[in-house]
Amino acid sequence: MYITTDAVVIKEQTIGESDRLVTLLTRNSGVIRAFARKAKSLKDSKSASTGLLAYSDFSIYKGKDKYIVDSAELKDIFFNLRSDIVALSLAQYFCELAFMLVPEETDSEEYLRIVLNSLHFLSQGKKHPLLLKAVTELRMLAISGYMPDLIACKGCSCYENEAMYFVPSVAAIYCEDCFDLASAPSIRLSMGALTAMRHICYVDFNKLYSFSLPENALKELSTATERYLTEVLGRIPPTLDFYKTIAS
Ligand SMILES: [Zn+2]
Repeated sequence: MYITTDAVVIKEQTIGESDRLVTLLTRNSGVIRAFARKAKSLKDSKSASTGLLAYSDFSIYKGKDKYIVDSAELKDIFFNLRSDIVALSLAQYFCELAFMLVPEETDSEEYLRIVLNSLHFLSQGKKHPLLLKAVTELRMLAISGYMPDLIACKGCSCYENEAMYFVPSVAAIYCEDCFDLASAPSIRLSMGALTAMRHICYVDFNKLYSFSLPENALKELSTATERYLTEVLGRIPPTLDFYKTIAS
């Protein structure tokens, strides 16, 4: 059986002298792992197209118990990321998120679009890294079955209040009147940060990245989406830990 798909290499591992085991975020087949023979050899056409963060057109042969990359043609390599260690570490975090959240052998088009867009904007430097981080974290969670309830206060159903609190453990928001600060860890959200969270969860994909926020609201947003992500996963992904170490 043959699969032809565009995909991003979200993990790569050297096998023996010259082969690679690559983990691919595909368009229609979820995340798959495939062998790329001779891909470590610089003379081989697969060398660049199967490296980490490469976006390529793949032809993959499905053998008895494993996938084998037959050919891979490079479409984009997000070149600017290679020279910026902070951006590169955020890009690797996006890849790890896809690895953790995307199911195998399933339609994965929106996940691929999120990763491609986030890597593109990150590489171009045209969007704030915290905006890209928040969009990638929250939208991926939302489409993975962890859509939080951000429509109104869970207590009184009000839409907005002086302050609203996002509570990761219940995946919902509470207004100031309904929320007892001592009852559960929470993040205080300004109206701007809450509006951005609603936008990320509910808007059509085409408008997903079309918003901006002042720096302080972006920090609230990023804190809220990150705390929700670690609540859902039950741990801090190592690539997130590393990004935070070098970004601060
Ligand atoms: Zn309320």
